[in-house]
Amino acid sequence: MVFGVAGVPTNYKGKFENMFPWLKAMGLNGFEIQCTYGFKISEDRQEIIKKMMNEGFSFSIHAPYYINLGSLNSAVVARSKENMKEGIALAKSLNINRIIFHPGGGHENSEKGRARAINQLVDAINQLTSEIDMGNVRLYPEIGGKTANLGSLDEIIDICSRCKFCYPCIDIAHLHAREIGSITSKEILKEKLSKIKKAIPEKFENIHFHAYTINYGDKGEIKHLKHGENMPDGRVGMPNLDDFISVLKEMKIEPWVISEALDTQEIGAKYMHDLYAKA
Ligand SMILES: [Zn+2]
Repeated sequence: MVFGVAGVPTNYKGKFENMFPWLKAMGLNGFEIQCTYGFKISEDRQEIIKKMMNEGFSFSIHAPYYINLGSLNSAVVARSKENMKEGIALAKSLNINRIIFHPGGGHENSEKGRARAINQLVDAINQLTSEIDMGNVRLYPEIGGKTANLGSLDEIIDICSRCKFCYPCIDIAHLHAREIGSITSKEILKEKLSKIKKAIPEKFENIHFHAYTINYGDKGEIKHLKHGENMPDGRVGMPNLDDFISVLKEMKIEPWVISEALDTQEIGAKYMHDLYAKA
């Protein structure tokens, strides 16, 4: 099992290398490297990452936000493909197998517009992955948080079923937000995960999760909540993480769970880890 954080937690103030014992003391063993501004990791950090892998840490890489394979601008798509190849080479050199990316947007937000964007994204991925040796690297399209983003549950399933190297990144908070508060019970969450399992069983085994609570409005995501924080109107923050952990258990899913709770990633991750380890 992997439970961890996305990027260096706000509450951590020391050196990068000393963050790992700090995480480990909380039972955490996962770190998602935030390549927000490009697939670049300094030599020093690369050495630390390799060392920590030997000590039992699991790493994933979050692709830069400007990667947009679903864009209708062909220049953006071409550049995104080249960027993605650089990311794959970097991941391979570090022995990291998971690259998380946003399917993007910029298309017309209609059924037709979205289908066209998804077709284009699938073609772009299948093309780029055929041009290089992927090694053990797999690409994880992530559920988008806003209704206008590509990356609904059905779109993620569609991409993963049509792209050999794509696996699902299910951000349960984004899913809840883009469906305007859909995950109101454990049963509903279980239904959603069961849908993925049924559609792409061989990919489901290597599913990747982002889990935390989120504030949303009628266009989907507004803001990640802090762990334990209520919605601005006083309602309890959702989706319910206790339900999430118990669904993982019931469905016998091997967890790789990253917390993106606002300023409290390590607290959210520890909360889920402890629940999982206890039950
Ligand atoms: Zn993301």
